[in-house]
Amino acid sequence: MTLRIVVVGGGAAGIGAAGTAHQVDPDAKVTVYTDYEDVGYSPCGIPYVHGREIPKFENLFLQGKAFYEELGLDIHYETEVTGLDLENGKITAKGEGDVAYDRLIVGTGFNYADPGIPGTDLEGLYYVKNIRRAMEWDKILDDVKAAVVVEASPLGLEMVTALAHRGIETHLVDPHPWALAEVGDPDIMQPVMDSWTEMGVISHYNTKVEAFLGEGKVRAVKTSEGELPCDLVVICTHKQPNNRLAREAGLDIGSTGGIVVDQRMATSKPNVFAAGDCVELPHGVTKVPIQGLSGSHAYAQGKVAGANAAGGNRNYQPVYVPWGMVAGKWMIGGVSFGETLATALGIPFVMGVAQGISRARYYPDMKMVRVKLLAEPGSLKLIGAQMVGGEGIKERADFLAMAVKTGITLEDLAWMENVYSPPIGALNEPIALAAQKGLASLKKS
Ligand SMILES: Cc1cc2nc3c(=O)[nH]c(=O)nc-3n(C[C@H](O)[C@H](O)[C@H](O)COP(=O)(O)OP(=O)(O)OC[C@H]3O[C@@H](n4cnc5c(N)ncnc54)[C@H](O)[C@@H]3O)c2cc1C
Repeated sequence: MTLRIVVVGGGAAGIGAAGTAHQVDPDAKVTVYTDYEDVGYSPCGIPYVHGREIPKFENLFLQGKAFYEELGLDIHYETEVTGLDLENGKITAKGEGDVAYDRLIVGTGFNYADPGIPGTDLEGLYYVKNIRRAMEWDKILDDVKAAVVVEASPLGLEMVTALAHRGIETHLVDPHPWALAEVGDPDIMQPVMDSWTEMGVISHYNTKVEAFLGEGKVRAVKTSEGELPCDLVVICTHKQPNNRLAREAGLDIGSTGGIVVDQRMATSKPNVFAAGDCVELPHGVTKVPIQGLSGSHAYAQGKVAGANAAGGNRNYQPVYVPWGMVAGKWMIGGVSFGETLATALGIPFVMGVAQGISRARYYPDMKMVRVKLLAEPGSLKLIGAQMVGGEGIKERADFLAMAVKTGITLEDLAWMENVYSPPIGALNEPIALAAQKGLASLKKS
């Protein structure tokens, strides 16, 4: 009998799930529902088209619609799923009525948190997500003189940088004392904030957004520190799981608002899987559930959900959250948590910090790389890291995530082997320098 697999969501999780389900059981009938016009594009590239680093939106499409058709996936575009009937194994899709499934995968993604202040119904508030809307907003940006970015979240950092590149007067408003304060440490973020100032960005920290003002269209943002006139507001509030369908259908929802799944990405109901930004998963170090990870996490989880829905048996591991991005003129990144978050969570740590270089000292374009390592007292096992530098941050974050996962210690890192080649690596690897500093501080104490 042909297995009927229905996927709700055409983002990284949904498409990862659908493609893998088809690979595992090529005879299965895989149907995907998305309320968007497209699948198979990278939303991650949108800020860089706005910033003119990437010339056009078309470059962000990884595959066209014909590719998925040829693959055998039945994708229903611009079709909202309005309900899940888990008792009777069916979903309801707008314009189609009830559709039966044998296995269901929920990949409904995220919504930006509602700012919850007056004026959210005005025109001129941009929630960056759907590529078609981004194409429309990009034309509007041509005439924007002043923009306000609300919150220094990861997307906020990217949009501030993009709008400044574009030559728009850019204001950043954030309630915390420094940018990305819930994730990044102040010393890591300082070079980024300095570079924004060089780029003409006007940052308003410790400042709350109180209302969007205007008649029909936004003309200013009212903040706790005064009014900021603008033609456009980019809302970059934190990502919340889009769990309405799952909640109404009776799936277990966890403390973060994400759908509860086990390591097979199976939900609390039989034959129902979930993946991506709508779920929560345990953090590898703290075991505490977290949600709102990245597109790469969503895609990997989708693949596990898809494989298992199609009859496979794969597991998804707890997450150690390597992250990295460009902000202002710098790259920042890390693993798990930094000094600020570990302190806030009451996690004890010893720390090593060092500033090294990305290439041989004499090689052109050598850049600073600052590394901060956090280790468990006693065992000295690595539990977190943060970095800022001119290059090589992503590779170090990936490596350090694996180091945390496998129980590598400061001792191991202090005397690690490393590549030395003048154009790509210095004799003294900054990670090793930071670990040596951490060990030295222990001897002193
Ligand atoms: C501007 C931007 C920049 C980003 N940058 C990065 C980056 O640099 N690195 C990175 O790793 N990730 C990045 N991401 C990825 C992002 O942060 C998420 O982690 C990722 O999109 C999650 O994928 P998802 O499939 O879980 O959800 P989403 O991408 O939110 O997809 C959800 C899907 O569900 C569909 N859907 C929801 N409800 C319904 C319904 N009722 N009926 C039908 N369809 C429905 C939507 O149409 C959509 O197709 C970025 C995202 C954006 C928007």
